[in-house]
Amino acid sequence: MTNWLIPAFLFVFGAVVGSFLNVCIIRIPDKKSIVFPASHCPSCKTPIAFYDNIPLVSYILLAGRCRHCRTPISFQYFFVELLTPVITIILYFSFGLSPAFALAALFCYVLLVITVIDFQHQIIPDSISIPGIPLFLLSSPFLPWTNLKNSLIGIILGGGILYLIARVYYLLRKEEGMGGGDIKLLAMIGAFLGWKGVLISLMIGAFAGTLAGIAMILVRSKNLKYALPFGPFLSLGAFYALLWGNSLIYWYTHLGP
Ligand SMILES: [Zn+2]
Repeated sequence: MTNWLIPAFLFVFGAVVGSFLNVCIIRIPDKKSIVFPASHCPSCKTPIAFYDNIPLVSYILLAGRCRHCRTPISFQYFFVELLTPVITIILYFSFGLSPAFALAALFCYVLLVITVIDFQHQIIPDSISIPGIPLFLLSSPFLPWTNLKNSLIGIILGGGILYLIARVYYLLRKEEGMGGGDIKLLAMIGAFLGWKGVLISLMIGAFAGTLAGIAMILVRSKNLKYALPFGPFLSLGAFYALLWGNSLIYWYTHLGP
């Protein structure tokens, strides 16, 4: 009986959180308050009534358009409202109802906001990543895969590696290759996952980013100017490391005779 009750509750909870994450995604890059004013249509400025602001449901009922001016609502809203509960339920099945589950959910929500903002604006807001570093460092005693010392090394290692790569690239090419946002993001990931987890995140992120880069070159070979943001791939790597990092380490250390 109760087998489906908790996931069902987490789905509704996740959709509501996703609705809030959408507000963060829209307002943080513009440096606007995420609390006031209430949401309104970006096109006709009509305030959105509560019955048109129900996560997932309203988007479907309104067929993805503003009730008043019929301007299409970005698919991002529906996507984030759906992905957030899916991630929440995956984490529940991995960690159960535990402090690690709650903190991992918070970590993934932050990564999701960063991912969508980085795709849309090619920036990672300092107002998310910088407070995230001490916040996730302080949560490390509650996480079974790391501790304070391990997470401190994770911050230095994650930030340090990308800082070095950025410096070397700059010295060789005399232009910025990697933004400071990626450096702070990987430091934050190191705070939460510890030094092994941050290395796995970087490895998987670089691998996925390279694949996506190759795919993009193949698809539109003429337009090579659009730079893929690295933040979404680091976030993807961190999500992988969070769920399967330990089994990857096990697999790697048990290779060979
Ligand atoms: Zn409108």
